[in-house]
Amino acid sequence: MHEKTLSHGLWAVTAPAPPETRNLKGEVKADVAVIGGGFTGLSAALHLAEAGSAVALLEAREIGFGGAGRNVGLVNAGLWLMPEEVEKKVGPVYGARLVEVLGHSPDLVFELIEKNNIPCEAIRKGTLHCAHSPGGYRGLQQRETQWKARGAPVRLLSREQAAAEIGSESFYGALLDERAGTVQPLAYAYGLAKAAQQAGASLYTESPVSDYSRERDVWRLTTPEGTVIARSVILAIQGYPDFAFRDHRQAVIPFNFFQFATPPLPEAVRKTILPGGQGAWDTHLILSSYRLDQAGRLIVGSVGQVENGGYRLHEKWALRTIGKIFPQIGETQLEYAWNGCIAMTVDHIPRFHVLADNMVMVTSYNGRGIGPGTVFGKLLAEYALGGAVQDIPLPVTKQKGVFLRGLRGLFYETGARAYHLLQRRVL
Ligand SMILES: Cc1cc2nc3c(=O)[nH]c(=O)nc-3n(C[C@H](O)[C@H](O)[C@H](O)COP(=O)(O)OP(=O)(O)OC[C@H]3O[C@@H](n4cnc5c(N)ncnc54)[C@H](O)[C@@H]3O)c2cc1C
Repeated sequence: MHEKTLSHGLWAVTAPAPPETRNLKGEVKADVAVIGGGFTGLSAALHLAEAGSAVALLEAREIGFGGAGRNVGLVNAGLWLMPEEVEKKVGPVYGARLVEVLGHSPDLVFELIEKNNIPCEAIRKGTLHCAHSPGGYRGLQQRETQWKARGAPVRLLSREQAAAEIGSESFYGALLDERAGTVQPLAYAYGLAKAAQQAGASLYTESPVSDYSRERDVWRLTTPEGTVIARSVILAIQGYPDFAFRDHRQAVIPFNFFQFATPPLPEAVRKTILPGGQGAWDTHLILSSYRLDQAGRLIVGSVGQVENGGYRLHEKWALRTIGKIFPQIGETQLEYAWNGCIAMTVDHIPRFHVLADNMVMVTSYNGRGIGPGTVFGKLLAEYALGGAVQDIPLPVTKQKGVFLRGLRGLFYETGARAYHLLQRRVL
């Protein structure tokens, strides 16, 4: 999984062996073709195969190549937006259902992990959303009120309680969400892939769909050395659309996020950081994430990319940030660095597109895709098995290019670089 050294970082090193796959050669017939080997595609393939459907999954590169193998591993409930905002933006027909379904999304993730014995460092002890300012704390109070009104087990922690849970005096409080947890994301993707294979799905890697056409009532998907003929197609390509689907990039704003990992911390220090086993992130606009892996490495992430000239700047910021937030660590080094691209929409709401007859796609989880990808994969599988569009808790929308997409992406990237440069000077 080292196509680029900065792509999957620590996760590529600590994941178990990937599933055995091969590239597609010759012609294959399937009931459903799934394009993309991330959480959405793998969950769709698993649920389709379990229902007895003949499934062929085509992945352009490797399982977990996209966001699935690069992310922070926070299995959070819901979306970034607060429930009321989601309900307002999605509208009365689907809003409340979307909040309800995604509020329970960690349940499906941890059920699949348990049922299929997926070795992915899974811990379900909640996550902590940490207030970086008094304004951030007020936002968390609103979140608590809104989620509690919907029966969710969330709890606002005072400054002192948060300090004990995080192992840092740097925050004004935190919201503990007991529905959530953490995983080693690439290992989770590998586990889903192996479970799908065991259920009977055929997974093809290094098999990019470079062309597709409709022939009477079936789809013909072309890869460099093969073809899949299928009745239905599920497109699960998120922030990494490529080859035949390159132009789908126009519909999302690229939002890069990097992570750095320290070597394993000494046991005495490790016990003082996130001692309850939660993963954490903060309320800042240029947000940062903090978590430990199973070996006790601290992983710190934030907005920006370590490729294209960003490495040194973000590395210095990460070292200063670790020193400030967790001074008990003392001098440390950074062993791994990697980044990925998040598919964002202007309103931060995912999209459901019916691209053509029997060709559907859910995309743009806006950085919250472990639970949503797993859930939407299952829902898309049910749809392909004969469900109705109304069963997907999102309105069907037409795919549209984002106005000034490139500039918006540049705005995030330069904003993050400027902020990290400034912050490393003042810390
Ligand atoms: C750095 C980062 C941090 C994140 N942190 C979190 C987090 O902590 N918690 C959380 O819930 N979410 C997080 N996310 C979001 C989450 O990772 C994504 O939402 C999730 O990976 C989406 O899964 P997916 O299966 O839909 O798409 P992806 O995982 O992006 O997979 C899409 C796949 O489609 C393949 N593909 C594209 N074009 C073709 C083609 N023509 N033919 C065949 N295959 C093709 C790609 O190669 C890719 O493997 C983060 C994302 C990033 C990038």
